[in-house]
Amino acid sequence: MSIPENIKKLKSEIPQNVTLVAISKTHPPELVMEAYKGGQRIFGENKVQELVPKYESLPKDIEWHLVGHLQTNKVKYIAPFVSLIHSVDSLKLLKEIDKQAKKNNKVIRCLFQMHIAKEETKFGLSRSELVEILSSEDFKVLQNIQIVGLMGMATFTEKIEQVRKEFNELVNTFTQIKKDFFNNSDIFNVISIGMSGDYKVAIEEGSTMIRVGSIIFGERNYGTI
Ligand SMILES: *Cc1c(COP(=O)(O)O)cnc(C)c1O
Repeated sequence: MSIPENIKKLKSEIPQNVTLVAISKTHPPELVMEAYKGGQRIFGENKVQELVPKYESLPKDIEWHLVGHLQTNKVKYIAPFVSLIHSVDSLKLLKEIDKQAKKNNKVIRCLFQMHIAKEETKFGLSRSELVEILSSEDFKVLQNIQIVGLMGMATFTEKIEQVRKEFNELVNTFTQIKKDFFNNSDIFNVISIGMSGDYKVAIEEGSTMIRVGSIIFGERNYGTI
């Protein structure tokens, strides 16, 4: 099937309230254009050095998300155009995003990335670390960021019940945090969980935003990068 057909099929399978972010990492701009012609406007990348050239060469009505780990010294390159940062995992990073957003006279929407997987290698905060950030005075004074939800990546495993448990844990944290820190405001409304291998479980557990690459663009070939 073609890229536009893959997108159409995926969109017909997911509920209307679930946003599809097409993860185009490692794929050339020509393939992003195919998805664009198929109607897709929201794309995600995991590296700043790949996101910037794609932003520059592709249509300006694309909404670009950063979904991978972000280093503080690279925030300035994406601040002018990024639409949502999924991977905030420290107060230090958030302060830098705020600073760069201010320079660009804008507010940058962000998600906190939560550590839900059993793998040590994955980034993200524990619930107590998140609570600590949200409770701090340093956080409360930030004016050019808007926290709109949480993101998580489940363990890479065939054990679907484990994945379900990890997603469920994140959704519980989301509900608690929304109540305790956001006064149940509708602004805090993004639960970014679900990738090609687990988006169905993620949606069953309450995902409102899925990040899908391989199902749309095919397998990634890291060898040629
Ligand atoms: C690569 C990536 C995805 C998409 O992965 P697929 O398995 O290809 O759907 C989603 N989220 C993040 C953070 C990624 O790095």
